[in-house]
Amino acid sequence: MTHRYRFAPSPTGFFHVGGARTALYNWILALQNDGVFVLRIEDTDESRNEPHWTQGIIDALGWIGIDGNDRHFEGPYFQSANQAAHVAAATSLFESGRAYYCDLSSEQIQERSKASGKPGYDGFSRERNLGPGPGRVLRFRVPAGTTVVNDQVRGRVEFDNATIEDFVLLRGNGSPIFNLANVVDDLAMNITHVVRAEEHLPNTPKQQMLWEALASRVPMWAHVPVLVNEQRKKLSKRRDKVALEQYRDEGILPAAMVNYLMTLGWAPSGDTEIVDFDTIVREFDIGSVNHSSAFFDVKKLNAFNGEYVRKLSTEEFVTACEPWLTGGPTSTGRPVPWPAERFDRSLFLRIAPHVQTRVSLLAEVPAMVDFLFLADAPVDEAAFDKAFLAEWARPTLRLIRDGLATVEWVAEQIKSVVEAVGAQHDLKLGKLQAPVRVATTGRTVGPPLFESLEILGRDETLRRIDAALVRAG
Ligand code: GLU
Repeated sequence: MTHRYRFAPSPTGFFHVGGARTALYNWILALQNDGVFVLRIEDTDESRNEPHWTQGIIDALGWIGIDGNDRHFEGPYFQSANQAAHVAAATSLFESGRAYYCDLSSEQIQERSKASGKPGYDGFSRERNLGPGPGRVLRFRVPAGTTVVNDQVRGRVEFDNATIEDFVLLRGNGSPIFNLANVVDDLAMNITHVVRAEEHLPNTPKQQMLWEALASRVPMWAHVPVLVNEQRKKLSKRRDKVALEQYRDEGILPAAMVNYLMTLGWAPSGDTEIVDFDTIVREFDIGSVNHSSAFFDVKKLNAFNGEYVRKLSTEEFVTACEPWLTGGPTSTGRPVPWPAERFDRSLFLRIAPHVQTRVSLLAEVPAMVDFLFLADAPVDEAAFDKAFLAEWARPTLRLIRDGLATVEWVAEQIKSVVEAVGAQHDLKLGKLQAPVRVATTGRTVGPPLFESLEILGRDETLRRIDAALVRAG
C-alpha cells in the first residue's frame, strides 16, 4: 500500500521552526517510501485564520525544498471545504449509536462535577435518547477499556478510557470539533501515517477511537518531541525566535536549516552531522528519533550555516548574497544600506572570497562591504575617536598616505607601505592598521585591509584618508 503522510498546519501565524521540522519528517518519509506528502491547511478556526498565513506556509515549505510541483506532493487541501463530510461522519456515528446528543450547559456540567467530586463530564445524557436540537452538542460514547496507541517514536502508550470523558464531536451550533475534522479528513485522504508534534498525543486516544468507529483501521502514529530553548522551555513565539521567515531573512541557507533541523533528536550514521539531503533521505529512521525534547540551539544553527556558506563556490555565494545587497526579487525585509545603483557586482565578486570565510549569516555581509558601495566611509564616531587617540595615529597616517600615492596598487605593495611606516615608528602592523581601516572603511573589523583597499581603488582610498586627516584635526 502506498504510504500517505500528511502535514496539517493551522494558518494562524508565522511558520514555526518546529512545524518545519514536522513537515520535513513527513516529506522525507514520503520520499523514502516513494509515498505521498499531503498538505492540508486546517483552516476551520475562522477567528484566527488569515489567508496570508496560508501563503506563508506554502512559501516556507518551498524554501526548505518541499516542492509543490514534485510528484510526491499533493494539495493543498483546505479543511474548511470538507465541513459537510465532517457533519456527515458525525451523523453516521449518531445513527449507529456511537454518539449521542446532550443538552447540558457548561454550568450544569460544572455543578454536577462539583457535586460528585469527579472532574469533567459524567455521561449524564448517555441513555436519554435525545435527538438533535438547538444548543445540543453531539458527544462520542467512549467505550470502557483501554486504548493502546502504538507510536513509532514513543512505543506503546496506554490510555485508560475511564480517564477520557465522552468528548464533543459537534458543537451546539452544529460545527465540527478539531478531533472529528482531523480524523475525517485523514480518512478521506487515505492517510496511512500520522507524524506530528507531541502536543497532539493527548488527542490521539480520542482520534484512534474515531478511526476505529469510522473505518476499523488506525494509522501508524509518530509523535515527535517538542523543541526547547536554552532554558529547556518549549519554544514559544513570545519568548523565542521561532519564525522560519526570520531565519531566512537573516541569511540562513535553506540546506543548512534542513540539515540542522534534521539533527534535532536524530543523527546520521557517519562521524559528521553535516550531510547532504540524499544522505538524510537514505538514512533517516523515524523509529530512532529521540524521545526527549530537543534543544533548538541558534548558535549551533549559525555555525552549521557558516559551514554551508563556505561550501559554496564564489559565484554561488555572490548570488546567494544578492537579496541582501540589491534588494532583489527575494526581498529579505532588510533595507540595503546603499542606493541600489551604487552596487557593483564585479567589485563584490572580488571581495567575496574574503567575506565568505568570515560570516555565518548572509545578513552580516552588507556591513562588511558597505565601504565599497557607500559614497563615503560610514562614520562610527566612537571607533574613529578611539583609532585617532594615540599621538602616532595622525603622523603615521600622513606618511602612509604619501606612500600609497605612488605605490603599485596591489595588496602586497599596499601592505609594504604600511609595514615600512611601522618599522620607522616601531609599531606593529596590527596596531598601525587601525587608523587606516577606520579612515577608509569606517569600521574596526572587516575583510583583510590591504585586499579591501586594492578593491576600493587608489583615488578613493587617498580621498578617504585625506578626509579622515581633516576630521582628526
Ligand atoms: N492543525 C494541527 C496543528 O496545527 C495539526 C493536527 C495534526 O497534525 O494532526 O497543530
